[in-house]
Amino acid sequence: MRRPTLALDSSSIPSGAITRFAPAPTGFLHLGHLVSAVFVWGVARRFGSRVLLRIEDHDQGRSRAVYESALLEDLEWLGLLPDEPALESFRTGSSPFRQSGRGDRYASVLNDLASDYPVYGCRCSRRDIADEVDAVPGDERRYPGTCRERDLRIDDEGVAVRIVMEPGAERFDDLLLGPQKQTPEQQCGDLLVRDRLAQWTYQFAVTVDDWDQGVNLIIRGEDLLSSTGRQIRLARLLGREEPPLFLHHPLVLKPSGEKLSKANRDTGIRELRAAGMEAAELLGEAAYRGGLLTRARPITAADIGELFG
Ligand code: GLU
Repeated sequence: MRRPTLALDSSSIPSGAITRFAPAPTGFLHLGHLVSAVFVWGVARRFGSRVLLRIEDHDQGRSRAVYESALLEDLEWLGLLPDEPALESFRTGSSPFRQSGRGDRYASVLNDLASDYPVYGCRCSRRDIADEVDAVPGDERRYPGTCRERDLRIDDEGVAVRIVMEPGAERFDDLLLGPQKQTPEQQCGDLLVRDRLAQWTYQFAVTVDDWDQGVNLIIRGEDLLSSTGRQIRLARLLGREEPPLFLHHPLVLKPSGEKLSKANRDTGIRELRAAGMEAAELLGEAAYRGGLLTRARPITAADIGELFG
């Protein structure tokens, strides 16, 4: 009944770990998110971890209240309730687990870092960077350091902020993928932490939040694997001595091999619900698509820990 291929190294998961489900409210949830949720809640229920829910609405240009309320409602319908905070706290606007309410905290963390670490202002647009650096297929563009020596003040309007990434590798043992080695300085170059519109970046917000919120077990899709080395580096620069554990799970792909996106109506949770699927059927489908079952069968949120032995 269980997954044939995934080998989870659970020996290092401490009891009482804190993990999180951290969707961005930039679209409706789809099966890909649900695979993440099944891993998060499944591991947590099996190994006695706590699940936090965090709304990652750092990108104010793309986040919408309607997506946030839909995802809260979907999670409730699925029976996937966080241990903290109560869903209601998002609805009343009082939740400290929403990134858009944490700008002051991010600013103070950045100021502390800038007092004894090289951080600089940057005026480069994406276009400027694209003009200077060739795109590597399937890879990201490495920031070439154009503004490093320009002495731009980080609090001037229209100026982005970057943190120097020194050469050197970050290593970690992924609980599913085994030993990993990444070199942020070669992957992304100096890390963007606030953009020219004064929006905090995912990399910065997530690293500060995970530490502030005591998250020590990060479970997410393989699409974020390449971010992990820089998040470990950044966490250390901010003073976090013990990095979290990481588990990156396989992604649900379309038959063409492409990633699912929020525009994929055929795998949207709302559409599947409207088509008559029950919560347990959807969770079972996600478990199957994530390689946790050899064939889909209904599984309730209460039993989800069984997927992990
Ligand atoms: N907010 C990210 C997403 O929706 C997840 C971030 C993470 O798990 O680190 O893809």
